[in-house]
Amino acid sequence: MSAPAAPSNANHRRIAGKLVIATHNAGKLVEMRELLTPFGITATSAGELNLPEPEETGETFRDNARIKAEAAAKATSLPSFSDDSGLVVDALNGEPGIYSARWAGPEKDFNAAMLRIDTMLRRRGALTPERRTAHFVSALCVAWPDGHLEEFEARVDGSIVWPPRGSKGFGYDPFFLPDGYATTFGEMSSEEKHGLPPRGLGLSHRARAFVKLAEACLA
Ligand code: IMP
Repeated sequence: MSAPAAPSNANHRRIAGKLVIATHNAGKLVEMRELLTPFGITATSAGELNLPEPEETGETFRDNARIKAEAAAKATSLPSFSDDSGLVVDALNGEPGIYSARWAGPEKDFNAAMLRIDTMLRRRGALTPERRTAHFVSALCVAWPDGHLEEFEARVDGSIVWPPRGSKGFGYDPFFLPDGYATTFGEMSSEEKHGLPPRGLGLSHRARAFVKLAEACLA
């Protein structure tokens, strides 16, 4: 008789005990905590621990997620969880991409960053939803102090609307309309944007990447 198939998460490591969320971004911290809480995981954050922010020198979302998680794991000797994410606008050859936070400048002015993107789209004649397609990407990484890594990535497709709508969420949420919806991320409740089943649909890029992580490391 052949051996039973190995469970799909056989090669993954489970997350248990203390966890550090490797972010200094308050908006992301809220979402990451909301994703972890149903699994009984409470976590402190790199910002709350006053850890220095590592330089994001990677060329991909995945590289930068790994840099942040590894830096926090090294500094705290605890498993550390990071997200590197951003907005990829097709008509702008993928910009701002991994530079999404940097486009808002040191004063984190996302209204200015959204205006810049809209202006660039208009200059390129991108006025219809089909010409203004974009997606958010989230790369998640959990790094353990012994060097073990777990990495997951997902995206959500949509288009850029102008003017921005809604004051919920953070960053580029108000001008991002996910495909199949009439409301921007900025108009959605946190449950609608990133709530996991059965409470939500796991719509956002971060929620989708988190579902993969949960199946592998938390279930
Ligand atoms: P980083 O991952 O810390 O480099 O920053 C990613 C940046 O992308 C954030 O500062 C936001 O501007 C943007 N971003 C990532 N995820 C979201 C989201 O869910 N909503 C709105 N903006 C986001």
